[in-house]
Amino acid sequence: MKVADNLLHIKQQISHACQKVNRAPDEVKLIAVTKYVSTERAQEALDAGIINLGENRDEGLLAKWEVLADKPLWHFIGTLQTRKVKNIIDKVEYIHSLDRISLAEEINKRAVKKMKCLVQVNVSQEESKHGLAPEDVLDFIESLRPFENIIIAGLMTMAPFTEDEEQLRNCFRKLKELREQIKNCNFDFAPCNELSMGMSNDFGIAIEEGATMIRIGTALVGETGEEEKK
Ligand SMILES: *Cc1c(COP(=O)(O)O)cnc(C)c1O
Repeated sequence: MKVADNLLHIKQQISHACQKVNRAPDEVKLIAVTKYVSTERAQEALDAGIINLGENRDEGLLAKWEVLADKPLWHFIGTLQTRKVKNIIDKVEYIHSLDRISLAEEINKRAVKKMKCLVQVNVSQEESKHGLAPEDVLDFIESLRPFENIIIAGLMTMAPFTEDEEQLRNCFRKLKELREQIKNCNFDFAPCNELSMGMSNDFGIAIEEGATMIRIGTALVGETGEEEKK
């Protein structure tokens, strides 16, 4: 499938989800996750009109960053090792995976401008997932106050891998509640407007529950090899 065709379909689904809950589709930022695919396929996404790209490894991001003719806005969405920060910090618009103080220290030290970060929350408390436990998020964010190069733009989560709609909704709702709690603190360093939640399988539900950023790989650009299959 061409990215443009997938994009059309996804935009319809975004509109549909927004309509259900009276939101404007332009409140939802679509991030094309290109981690599975080639630079050519990423370029195809840009040609189709996509502006935001996401990668979860520094190698993948750097390889594409160097060759893409157009300059997308990059989102770093994966577990970020502290020693890798310097490789990506001047190339990305958002880091979605802030989950520990040592990482914040390094981002603050290496930042070339105020760095917009999202705190990753392990809402579903699965062992296999990264992120803070919900009850630790507020204290964690308060402890980031001294880092003057970090802006807490919002919260991010990965929902459990399930088709159980209620379970997904509960997860997304909890992240939104947490965001409200932080917004209500009115920290100048933590406007916390963004909710990065929703992937190929669950973005409709995530939008209904308030997502402002959705991260879509498979359904938009496909998985590895998709570009050869056509
Ligand atoms: C891979 C990945 C995605 C995209 O997943 P799809 O199911 O392919 O849409 C979104 N978010 C994160 C953090 C990822 O690692």
